[in-house]
Amino acid sequence: MDPISRSVPVGVVGAGTMGGGIAQVAALAGHEVRLHDTVDGAAERAVESALRRMARAVDGGRLLAEEAEDAAARLRAVDTVDDLAGCGLVVEAVVEDLTVKQPLFAALEAVCGLDTILATNTSSLSVDAIAAALAHPGRVAGLHFFNPAPVLPLVEVVSGRGTDPGVADILTATATAWGKTPVRVTSTPGFIVNRVARPFYAEAFRLLASRAVDAATVDAMLRESGGFRMGAFELADLIGHDVNLAVGRSVWEAFGRDPRFEPSALQAQLVAAGRLGRKTGRGVYAADEAAPQPSTAPPVPATDDAWVGDGPHGHPAAGAVRWQVGTPDVQLRPTDGRTATQLTGGGPVTVVVADLALDYASATRIGIAAPQHAPREHVDAVVGFLQGLGYTVTLLPDTPGLVVARTVAMLAAFAADVVDAGVASADDVDTAMRLGVNYPHGPYAWGTDLGWDWVAGVLDALAAAEDPRRYRVSPGLRARAALDDPGDAVWDRADGSGVALARRAADAMWAGDAASQALGMTIEDVAPGRARVTMPVRRDMVNGHGICHGGLIFAVADTAFAFACNSHNRNSVAQSCDITFVRPAREGDVLLAVATERHRDGRNGIYDVTVWRRDPGGDDLVAEFRGRSREIPGTLVEEKEDQP
Ligand code: NAD
Repeated sequence: MDPISRSVPVGVVGAGTMGGGIAQVAALAGHEVRLHDTVDGAAERAVESALRRMARAVDGGRLLAEEAEDAAARLRAVDTVDDLAGCGLVVEAVVEDLTVKQPLFAALEAVCGLDTILATNTSSLSVDAIAAALAHPGRVAGLHFFNPAPVLPLVEVVSGRGTDPGVADILTATATAWGKTPVRVTSTPGFIVNRVARPFYAEAFRLLASRAVDAATVDAMLRESGGFRMGAFELADLIGHDVNLAVGRSVWEAFGRDPRFEPSALQAQLVAAGRLGRKTGRGVYAADEAAPQPSTAPPVPATDDAWVGDGPHGHPAAGAVRWQVGTPDVQLRPTDGRTATQLTGGGPVTVVVADLALDYASATRIGIAAPQHAPREHVDAVVGFLQGLGYTVTLLPDTPGLVVARTVAMLAAFAADVVDAGVASADDVDTAMRLGVNYPHGPYAWGTDLGWDWVAGVLDALAAAEDPRRYRVSPGLRARAALDDPGDAVWDRADGSGVALARRAADAMWAGDAASQALGMTIEDVAPGRARVTMPVRRDMVNGHGICHGGLIFAVADTAFAFACNSHNRNSVAQSCDITFVRPAREGDVLLAVATERHRDGRNGIYDVTVWRRDPGGDDLVAEFRGRSREIPGTLVEEKEDQP
């Protein structure tokens, strides 16, 4: 499709921040441009500003003097909408108010010929709503520039339901001819950029609101590990919290207050307090105070422990989440969303998790978390090891999804949702996020590189620990995850219910079960109708002779039983059980309980559980247990949308 010819005049209505910039772009591209504003003198002032910007570009060597002169000669202010007659394209950039835009489009329709394309620069309103009252709504589309329009290359070409496809094609070709990079998007709340970017801010604010991590540390992690140009708080301070919150609220409202899009109450408090960001001197940060420093671990001398396995160094984002290094006592693993406490469970090895980095080869900071009661020397060993590799290390609290991983997993999930909803192609989503908000990697490609099973896993961990509705995995993402993890796919097909859901239900139970946590139980494996749980026998669990006859063994058997019967994501209660103790447990044993569903009849199930002593010499049977369960109403995790 050809672009609009340069010989065809272009009209711009609204001579504010955006209109003046768009007029400059069109004039530089060779069109005669007529700029109109209802406020007296506003269009003239916008033309003068455009001339000044072009003069600066000439001084800076970014524009030839004659190009600036020619563009200046083509750009003029006009007094009325009637002066736009004869334009082949009119771009509307007036205030973001449907009650202003609708009558303006009616006026434009009355003035302009049938072949004039009417475009809106709206950020958040529906193209269809703007065109609703027109006789020929097919010629209305969105042409969404980013601020500052003369500088930023991205333009979202937005098709409403009623937009003639040829109109979007012409606008796409025209944006390209104007030196911009257009992406195609259907008219949905936030289009691409303002929709997919939501969790970048929201996840940061959730961490801040939880008091788990301070703002400077979140920003440093996003920059120095995640590879983002700016941290979420620095960027929101720059944009203005009022503007950022308004966009977030409008997208949230448009999606029926879906918790996935819920804006931060903490950000609303900042706005209410007038802490709007740089423009008021105070936002998350205060201009008149020293910049807070991110939390950084002091230097620890490296020990000569042998670290076995591929270290984080040298791994690009692709496959980066698969490495693992360790000594006999400590293991360092990239996060899969679960906490170090969960991964360590009752095992003999302390598991320390590392937050995600865009590229571990070029990242300068790594965030790690250890179980709360991990021996100090284990944590120091990891810190010393990473510092020895040249990283600055941040010791994060042991929260699910840490900082970068939860942000990137949510961005990738949002990108996948946009693609699945047919709003835009994966390539266009990635282009939009790289050019519109400077992301270091397109979020869809990021999800593909990391593995969609990893993305879904991080969301599952957050769903279990924080909010099952906000972090629910969409059906499309679940299907991608199953493809990325053939093991799961086989189970899902064979069982018809899904290992992933069983895992989520089990994780949700574990997160709410203080006794399992205190006893150091770990869910080793769970699938519909079965579970394997381990627990170490500690000194404080045995009598003076170092043995335990009953209570402890019963606890581990009962827990495995509970995980197995609730792994269908139905709440069950144990009704009766029958346990046979074969031999006592001893201090230092690791008990392994394996629960298997033997029978299930609607609401009732019968489960067999065996408890073994897992020690270096082999597995000894410790107890056998048969239990009955009875279902009670309710689920453990939200499952409405999550079944593929
Ligand atoms: P602005 O407030 O700077 O300018 C709006 C201009 O429109 C004002 O000069 C006003 O006098 C004029 N105006 C109002 N009603 C008019 C009418 N009926 N006819 C002619 N002129 C009229 O606003 P802005 O920031 O340039 O935003 C304009 C549009 O662009 C909005 O739809 C906004 O959502 C969108 N947008 C803004 C940004 C941004 O960062 N500012 C980025 C992308 C898109």
